[in-house]
Amino acid sequence: MATIRAEAQRVQGALALLRHAHANPGVTRAAAAASLGLTSGSATEIMGRLRAARLLSERVAPQAGRGRPTSVLVPHPDGPLVAVVEITHATWSVTTAGIGGSLAPAAVHRHAPGDRDVGRGRVEPGTVLARIGGALDALRARFGERLVAVGVAMPGTIRGHTVVQAATLRWRDVDLAVLGGGLTLTAGNDASLAGVAEAARGAARGHQTALHLTVEVGVGGVLLVDGAPALGATGAGGEFGHVPFGDPAVRCPCGAYGCWDVTVDGRAMARRLGRGEPADPRAFAGAVLSAARNGNGDAKAAVAEAAHALGRGVGALLNALDPAVVTLGGLGVDLLAFAGDIFTDAVRRAAMAWRRAELPPIVPAELGSRGPSIGAAESALAAVLAGLTQDRVAGR
Ligand SMILES: [Zn+2]
Repeated sequence: MATIRAEAQRVQGALALLRHAHANPGVTRAAAAASLGLTSGSATEIMGRLRAARLLSERVAPQAGRGRPTSVLVPHPDGPLVAVVEITHATWSVTTAGIGGSLAPAAVHRHAPGDRDVGRGRVEPGTVLARIGGALDALRARFGERLVAVGVAMPGTIRGHTVVQAATLRWRDVDLAVLGGGLTLTAGNDASLAGVAEAARGAARGHQTALHLTVEVGVGGVLLVDGAPALGATGAGGEFGHVPFGDPAVRCPCGAYGCWDVTVDGRAMARRLGRGEPADPRAFAGAVLSAARNGNGDAKAAVAEAAHALGRGVGALLNALDPAVVTLGGLGVDLLAFAGDIFTDAVRRAAMAWRRAELPPIVPAELGSRGPSIGAAESALAAVLAGLTQDRVAGR
């Protein structure tokens, strides 16, 4: 009995130090020990186990002044890796990340013209998943057993391993399990994973409750509590873009009426400018923003209207969710920069009176377009770290 308890404590101590090193790249052993309340001796002992388990290593840190040399906790050179897959409406990429979460450089591939059913704008899922599968096979051949999980980020509603609906790719009920190849597979919505990344390593870091919203084509996001995404019973929550903050007469491609999604992006700007639906709403929004910056009055009005619609919804979500911080990604960063006053005024008008005096900070996301991949890496690593530590440190 005593042996079992001692073993459980060893595993827990190792997992705590491993998680701390993962969350704080560059941390010294002394600082990690102080944060976790470990004596110097037990930190040294735990590090020995994590090194033997090929999870963490150390390197001597350059020390300012004449203090004792210290060591920085780093990923083990033969340590575990997760494959990180990101699919967007136009591209796909595959890379790796290890303990500490930093991504290896990724080659970004465009969906080939042959992937599209001509005239329908649909990207053929089988073709894309086969190409990604080929890239994952190459990683397996290169890294062997170091590869322990696959994390996928993509637009759309994801439940478990299934893409229930991805409007921009025109996918319905696509199973991603084929990408796992026997490894642990995690999959998530790109905006939700960008939120996970902001909470772990970006602008929402250190806040207990954070709301992240990414505006690209429509708006997606997530509420994060202690860094974990609140995604409901089946993982499909966080579809803030399909809350009816918009015009009840306008039908959204999701099938509902009045969605916030279609009021904040390039499609909204096109309607305001009397144009038809743009083929690439994100690129269209970029062009309108650039015209607005150059002083075009119609473009300025279209940007202002989108910023107002975004702010109105954010104010409503503050009432509903009470986050300590709001991070805005994608087009949201541009709307905040170009029409911040209009945005903030709309937030205040939608917020309950008592809240106006103490609005939480609403800030640009820090991780930009890397957010979804960083979040996918975090999510895949979180799924396997405890099991790996248990297996390797307990010696089973
Ligand atoms: Zn909708």
